Amino acid sequence: MHEIVIISGKGGAGKTSITGAFAQLAQGAVLCDLDVDAPDLHLLLDPKKESEHEFWSGNEAIIDPAKCEKCGLCFDMCRFNAIEETEDSFQVAPFRCEGCKVCVEFCPADAISFPKRHCGQWYISTTRFDTMVHAQLFPGEENSGRLVTLLKQEAKKIAEAKGFDLVLCDGAPGIGCPVISSLAGTDLALLVTEPTPSGIHDLKRVAELCDGFKIQVAVLINKWDVNPELSDNIEKYCQSKGYSVICRFPHDRAVTDAMVNRKVITEYDNGALKKTLETAWADTVSLLKSK
Ligand code: SF4
Ligand code: SF4
Repeated sequence: MHEIVIISGKGGAGKTSITGAFAQLAQGAVLCDLDVDAPDLHLLLDPKKESEHEFWSGNEAIIDPAKCEKCGLCFDMCRFNAIEETEDSFQVAPFRCEGCKVCVEFCPADAISFPKRHCGQWYISTTRFDTMVHAQLFPGEENSGRLVTLLKQEAKKIAEAKGFDLVLCDGAPGIGCPVISSLAGTDLALLVTEPTPSGIHDLKRVAELCDGFKIQVAVLINKWDVNPELSDNIEKYCQSKGYSVICRFPHDRAVTDAMVNRKVITEYDNGALKKTLETAWADTVSLLKSK
């Protein structure tokens, strides 16, 4: 079983457009949207939900006012200022509670319960290409890394059951917890970047992260023609690090038009853009198999 994760180190680099096109070209891969905080692959792939599941993770403190003796110990002990004192009660502010359990352990009246937290929903869906596993964390919820791990496990199970040997993942932006979980155990990280100073900065950050996990890196330079000089610099940087640049993709209005029409680029364009992405996908697969 192989896994490719497409990441960018930042939002807005074109990662989801590229993932959508590759989802069509892959033919025989389970798709997985690992951007659980702000998923958007569904906007292009229009998934039909086959099953929906609750995601429970972490715990939160809840004070039972009937048992609370209003001693204020929890208020004094909470290091996250998650206990609020009102005129006649103490309450937990759920968004500030870090689930450390200190208040639960020290409450003299045994007035604080510590139930699991319902953090979001995850789904198995069908799309016009293939099965897709995706999720949505509730606003302000954490534990996105655990949800990412769960999605990857479920996607692999489905791929095995279908006899596929590939899971294609749209990763989260940034270099935080969900991206680290996205990269765990993956075979190839495809980094989508663009020729801007911030694009290069974010490319380097996320590439270093991949190096730290010893994950093979490939790079796609999106909108390369917006700044050919910076694109050359990106390519030189990649050569110096041993990363394969699999594609220089041009800036083209058709990419936006495809999105507006809720199609992936390779459905919307039958000309040079499609050919470029077909070659990029073939090179990505060759790289994966040459490992
Ligand atoms: S420690 Fe327990 S009894 Fe004291 S204020 Fe907090 S919840 Fe109430
Ligand atoms: S579980 Fe920890 S963070 Fe949450 S309210 Fe209690 S002491 Fe504060």
